[in-house]
Amino acid sequence: MFGINRREWKTNQGSEVTFRHHRYDDLVRMLYKVHNECPHITRVYSIGRSVKGRHLYVLEFSDYPGIHEPLEPEVKYVGNMHGNEVLGRELLLQLSEFLCEEFRNRNQRIVRLVEDTRIHIMPSMNPDGYEVAAAAQERDISGYLVGRNNANGVDLNRNFPDLNTYIYYNEKNGGPNHHLPLPDNWKSQVEPETQAVIQWIRSFNFVLSANLHGGAVVANYPYDKSLGHRVRGFRRTANTPTPDDKLFQKLAKIYSYAHGWMHQGWNCGDYFPDGITNGASWYSLSKGMQDFNYLHTNCFEITLELSCDKFPLQGELQREWLGNREALIQFLEQVHQGIKGMVRDENYNNLADAVISVGGINHDVTSGAHGDYFRLLLPGTYTVTATAPGFDPETVSVTVGPAEPKLVNFQLKRSTPQAAPKRRIPNSGHRGRVLPKKVQPRAARKKETMMKQPQRGPA
Ligand SMILES: [Zn+2]
Repeated sequence: MFGINRREWKTNQGSEVTFRHHRYDDLVRMLYKVHNECPHITRVYSIGRSVKGRHLYVLEFSDYPGIHEPLEPEVKYVGNMHGNEVLGRELLLQLSEFLCEEFRNRNQRIVRLVEDTRIHIMPSMNPDGYEVAAAAQERDISGYLVGRNNANGVDLNRNFPDLNTYIYYNEKNGGPNHHLPLPDNWKSQVEPETQAVIQWIRSFNFVLSANLHGGAVVANYPYDKSLGHRVRGFRRTANTPTPDDKLFQKLAKIYSYAHGWMHQGWNCGDYFPDGITNGASWYSLSKGMQDFNYLHTNCFEITLELSCDKFPLQGELQREWLGNREALIQFLEQVHQGIKGMVRDENYNNLADAVISVGGINHDVTSGAHGDYFRLLLPGTYTVTATAPGFDPETVSVTVGPAEPKLVNFQLKRSTPQAAPKRRIPNSGHRGRVLPKKVQPRAARKKETMMKQPQRGPA
């Protein structure tokens, strides 16, 4: 849909951000600098604080910053979740400056992107870990994992509530296939940074997301947690696809093929066909962020591993930016595909939390607080059903093309007792039922014993 030659950038070689690493104070200055340069299309906000009290800042781009416009999708980037994996942090600062400058230059592709999309950019989810990693770097202390964790020593990408065990159970035995409920005591089980992110992704109706890491070069898509038990003596774990596997593969490929070299497959001594991998088939991990996004919210998230060297030399940052720039933009544009629309009642009242089901894909999405919904889909013909408690379900057939998202609105009729005798709609309520005690997740007891490739360590 954005058919503009990818080389036609006006600010071609990067920007005034300059290609250097940014400590916390520097990063904050940069975010406000971009905001001051583009005040009408940006907003800086904080979603909470780290263990050491540093803000978790987000820079938002939109033609109406701070406002959700119905039918305009929300998308996010999260960088530097592992404090020592720093390229994503710098790329997101570059991207921020780039969006601002190109918008001011009236680059039509970027103007359209900003006008049609609400973009949230969080350069650092782990500012405390970053400071540790940066200080070690300055003293030339090498250590592969120095600064990875937060200030309490916790790996934030192993810190989200484990919902996979529930979904694997439900897939076999029936039960909700989306918006799985959090454990009652979830806040006491997670770190401040994780809690802030969970509250953030619950309060916006995000549709698409990427989480930027380092230590490999590959686009990694859910699930991250393996369904199969590992066979003793074998390092590889089983490919564990989501019901949206083909869509996730496409999203990952969009990034890898728009990236300078990710798609070539051979990087950092590893080979990944097309530069993509199912997370679990690479190495299984529990309590990761991307699986959580998919299982608890409407958001489809992938994890981007962007550099062999977790803390690249300053001299490499420009090349990395040029290698990632087009991919970062194209990925954002992917939020404009599939179907979207409003769910209303007969009096045109917006219906929040209506469930949108697609025949053949066992993963529903819901309408947001404004009654609008977004369902990413590959091109094809689908049977789509909207349901809401107290209303008759409505089913339509939709053909989705490769470009613009198809607008599919629903106007639901209140069900009358005669017209709608007690019926069970499969996969309807997302309040969900709770898993019986006996199948409490095993992984909750098990710490992360599963690590691939111990010689190199986790990405
Ligand atoms: Zn990482």
